Amino acid sequence: MPVNNIKGEIMKDPQNILFIVSESVPFAKSGGLADVAGALSGKLAEKGHRVTVVMPYYAGIPVELTRSPEPPFPMNVWMGNTEEWCLVHSKKIQKNLHYYFIDFQKYFFREGLYHDHAMHDYEDNPKRFAFLSQAALYLCKTKQIKPDIVHAHDWQTSAALAYLKTHHWDCPFLGGAAGVLTIHNIGYQGKYPRDAYEYLGFREKDFVPEIFEDHGGINLLKGGIHFADIVNTVSPSYANETLTPEYSHGLDPLLRKKGDRYIGILNGVDYAKWDPSCDTLIARTYHTRNMEGKKQCKAILQKKMDLYRQEQIPVIGIISRMAAQKGLHLLAKSIEAIVNNMQVQFAILGSGDKNLEDYYGSLPRKYPGLIGVHIGYDNVLAHAVEAGADLFLMPSLYEPCGLNQIYSLRYGTLPVVRATGGLDDTVEQYDESSGTGTGFKFYDATPRAIFDTVGWAVSTYYDRPKHYRAMQERAMKKDFSWEESTLRYEEAYRRAKEVKKTYDIKHTL
Ligand code: ADP
Repeated sequence: MPVNNIKGEIMKDPQNILFIVSESVPFAKSGGLADVAGALSGKLAEKGHRVTVVMPYYAGIPVELTRSPEPPFPMNVWMGNTEEWCLVHSKKIQKNLHYYFIDFQKYFFREGLYHDHAMHDYEDNPKRFAFLSQAALYLCKTKQIKPDIVHAHDWQTSAALAYLKTHHWDCPFLGGAAGVLTIHNIGYQGKYPRDAYEYLGFREKDFVPEIFEDHGGINLLKGGIHFADIVNTVSPSYANETLTPEYSHGLDPLLRKKGDRYIGILNGVDYAKWDPSCDTLIARTYHTRNMEGKKQCKAILQKKMDLYRQEQIPVIGIISRMAAQKGLHLLAKSIEAIVNNMQVQFAILGSGDKNLEDYYGSLPRKYPGLIGVHIGYDNVLAHAVEAGADLFLMPSLYEPCGLNQIYSLRYGTLPVVRATGGLDDTVEQYDESSGTGTGFKFYDATPRAIFDTVGWAVSTYYDRPKHYRAMQERAMKKDFSWEESTLRYEEAYRRAKEVKKTYDIKHTL
């Protein structure tokens, strides 16, 4: 039935979309997944689709964010032969967008999302997130939601697609739904010992290497890929890379088997939050025609990070999970050579791996005024780094999409990146002869390549200021908003429904 979207336009083919996610802004966030879930669900709803988001009610979610006139209700969920009871809180966020928070204290009332403060994975993670996945489908039954699309994200909610395809739902609400799986990072697959399998309630015959089995244990993402009608990842380059053993963490055969049902859709970014002309979290706004504000943001960043207050010295920003994926162990082998040989400063914000935290945390004492480090998670400081830095470094070993380099483009903070995945797709290489490009890319994952490319960017800053300024202007005008990406997801949903239809016909003949 046609509906009006938020602009009052008639939408011909509105879909009922069930989003099942382990994190979404503004409620809970550990990384890019939350940004994508929050923004994409909102955009789809704005366009006139009916979107239901189901996520855990974590201990850390502020009560005021979920406060709602709708009272919570109890719901039972069968996990294999175990019956569990949870509470469900619901909140209407905007027209067509409804969030449901699964409140199950045994699984979600904890300090962290996936691990404790010592970074140890919670042992019952497969049970926790399979429970979330199953609860989302039970919710459809309870609230009579009839999704056209069940959209799962990463290993955490991959189980939903197995439940969708293999359960004999005693209600008509789920039979028509096609399954879409978005892989935000194939490095995390949800691999656990087999013990949990019975509780998860998957079919015994699905514990095979083509579906859930992985070296004797369970691999949740594998099962999700198998059961999804369409699988996508978050940039075209990463989609290609993950078809090779080097990047797939073992899943390339399964992805190749999907053929053209495996695609790459670049993430968009939310410019309502990440744009220096309207950012409410930075000291002073600025835009391409007047960059004075950026100078002030730089001075404030230098102060916040205990760096020397020198306007002419380029500041290199880093905001990152401290994990091997992000290449920070490579940078650890070149950062001291960089500050010893170049006139630069670093403003580093991140947390994660204990060894990396210790190493980077020790640098300000060794290089006072030159390297500023804040270990922790701090959104306001992240905005200050984007706005105040001159260059932004991401030496990732792999990067499914990456958001910070896209934010950096908009803030005129030229990215220096390893040419991989979404970094390669979003940053255009600087050409010294013509002055074109939006950033500086390198290919080898080595400390030397980082050193050389930072050197190239720093010399451009000092020696070719006209090029640097023109690149800033070009970068700030780039548009990676959700408009285009949302269209691609709508296309993926259409394809998923076709794939499902073909599958259904085949299996009823
Ligand atoms: P990933 O999801 O792999 O961590 P992305 O670049 O896709 O990497 O997204 C990271 C998101 O998390 C960005 O929005 C970034 O600003 C934010 N972020 C990462 N680390 C921190 C931190 N220490 N403090 C504040 N924000 C952070």
